[in-house]
Amino acid sequence: MSLEPDDIAANLAAVRARIAAAVVRRGPGREPILIGVGKKQPAEAVIAARRAGLGDFGENYAQELVAKAEAVAAAVVPPRWHFIGPLQTNKVRKVVGVGALVHTVDRPALVDELAREVARLRAGRGATAPLELLVEVNVGDEAQKAGVAAAELPALLDLVAARPELRCVGLMAIPPEGEPEQTRPYFARLRELARREAAVARPGVELVHLSMGMSSDFEVAIEEGATMVRVGTAIFGPRPPRA
Ligand SMILES: *Cc1c(COP(=O)(O)O)cnc(C)c1O
Repeated sequence: MSLEPDDIAANLAAVRARIAAAVVRRGPGREPILIGVGKKQPAEAVIAARRAGLGDFGENYAQELVAKAEAVAAAVVPPRWHFIGPLQTNKVRKVVGVGALVHTVDRPALVDELAREVARLRAGRGATAPLELLVEVNVGDEAQKAGVAAAELPALLDLVAARPELRCVGLMAIPPEGEPEQTRPYFARLRELARREAAVARPGVELVHLSMGMSSDFEVAIEEGATMVRVGTAIFGPRPPRA
């Protein structure tokens, strides 16, 4: 059961208030972008949040993104979409087709496929702006976790810089699970990696965004410099077991 529109609107207001308080604690900086993560929630839940004023939404599965983007566009002014799940190269076309900002670029094959897709679009309809993306970093050095290893980050950014079709606008991370305060050092680590790599001149790489923080820890993430927080359950309630 997904929440009623009024409950979603009330949750959204509460999350916004918590974000504002965290911004005060953090001090000057970019206003964080709140991304409502609607994975496994019905399109109606996303539409309710859109009607309540939310402009950014994230999805984890390419097929679900495409279906939901269509259903949402039929009901309200389309939001900006973010793709925050593991991305297989054979799903790149779908995700780029929706215009989603991909947060989870973590390997050379994916960089190549994204550049190829943009080149293909350019050949078809002429000028296409460079595709913006974020690189996901495995900040906890966890085996089996998505994200490029911190040691491989410079090489992956070099690869993006070599592709005029692409523009890297920031880094993203999903820290190891833990209490909010336990995630703080991982958020700080992502910020430091971005600061270090921003000092390297690379065309097409401008690390202005840090996508970090979820329902359980978005305030800590903002205190550590998040410019994009990805919040699901705190807005939409618990996810149903099945899509
Ligand atoms: C599901 C998900 C979120 C949102 O998680 P909540 O705990 O529901 O806020 C954020 N980021 C990613 C990458 C996710 O997969």
